[in-house]
Amino acid sequence: MSLVVQKYGGSSVASAGHIKNVAARIKRCADRGDRVVAVVSAMGDTTDELIALAHQVTDHPQEREMDVLLSTGETVSSALLVMALHAIGVDAISLSGGQAGMLTSAVHRNARIVSIDPKRLKREVERGRVVIVAGFQGHTEEQDVATIGRGGSDTTAVAFAAALNARCEIFTDVDGVYTADPRVVPDARKLKEITYEEMLELASKGAKVMAPRAVELGSVYNIPVYVASSFKDEVGTLIHGGVDMEGFNRVRGIAHDVDVAKITIRGVPDRPGVAAEIFQPLADAHFSVDTIVQNASEDKLTDLTFTLAKADMANALPHVQDIAKKIGAKDVVADERMGKVSIVGTGIQSAPGYAARMFATLSASGINIEIISTSEIRITCIVPEDRVPDAVRALHAAFELEKAEAAELTIQP
Ligand code: ADP
Ligand code: ASP
Ligand code: MG
Repeated sequence: MSLVVQKYGGSSVASAGHIKNVAARIKRCADRGDRVVAVVSAMGDTTDELIALAHQVTDHPQEREMDVLLSTGETVSSALLVMALHAIGVDAISLSGGQAGMLTSAVHRNARIVSIDPKRLKREVERGRVVIVAGFQGHTEEQDVATIGRGGSDTTAVAFAAALNARCEIFTDVDGVYTADPRVVPDARKLKEITYEEMLELASKGAKVMAPRAVELGSVYNIPVYVASSFKDEVGTLIHGGVDMEGFNRVRGIAHDVDVAKITIRGVPDRPGVAAEIFQPLADAHFSVDTIVQNASEDKLTDLTFTLAKADMANALPHVQDIAKKIGAKDVVADERMGKVSIVGTGIQSAPGYAARMFATLSASGINIEIISTSEIRITCIVPEDRVPDAVRALHAAFELEKAEAAELTIQP
């Protein structure tokens, strides 16, 4: 008998009918002899709706109370799923993240998982019960509920799989990881497998099929993560480590993100320590800054540009303006209508020409590149938001990602 941790995302539990479908799937696994722990997300767009509701009440909801509010989304789906399981004769129990043993830091809305003590969870599994865990949340030392960041149910599932030494399966509304978002590129191709490294780059640059922190945890604890559809019985994608894709010399996938805002501090005095003076206060205020570019200085003055999530822009801007004043910079300009497109593949590091091909492709489509950033296996261009879908399609075609790869391995979950 093997233990499996499954995760069902928001679209998979979006209605009573969807929840019954998930219950039936879990029953099939249990009938096959698996012991099942399932992590659930909030129904459909509940989390977004709860955030909007809070902002109708006040412009500045307290983070602790936001967590009390947001965690209810996952609580609702966990209880309903257990009811649906009972209705078809499956013994099951719902547990909040805290009850399931997840201890988190006290940084509300973006808490880190400190530890998992799965005693209670194991006891329930040993009683023969299916355990449904409310995703995205844990308890702090003070027993306050804390959420672990958007997409946190993926992270919850991988964390519990690691703590229980179980298999990990993420069920969602697509039947695997594709070469690009299939909603944007109709001929995107499903990958049979992908390395943690590549998936992490795709996820952190916007391929929301997996949360980046979940991929990171999978990699750290070496938990293969199988991504598949909760609607169809198709073979999905295995995210795993260890395979050196010898012979691969190409782009594996394209990620895009339209949630990008850009802030430029102009006329920054070019002296040692100035970057720390800018970014330390932003980090202290928990703003997550992405691409950073500093121009070559002219007359000891430079321009410094960075990107961040659109939702953070309104709150971050006053901080940045204060900082600019303190360091004696000229002014601050901001633009919320940015997006980014990234090509990712381990082949990029060993072969020249990918960057040039990417830039030439964007240029041929008349798309202006505002900022470029790279890692060993990724090249990202910041482009105007409204050109992102065109950019993704043009790059998918230019790198011929719709064509099957000769060296693709067949690893079954
Ligand atoms: P869930 O609600 O199950 O967590 P998400 O909406 O977070 O699901 O993630 C699934 C979505 O991710 C898909 O519907 C798809 O549009 C999007 N997506 C983006 N990039 C990719 C990709 N490379 N492969 C598959 N899906 C992707
Ligand atoms: N409901 C949370 C969110 O929308 C967590 C998740 O679905 O993973 O981000
Ligand atoms: Mg998700």
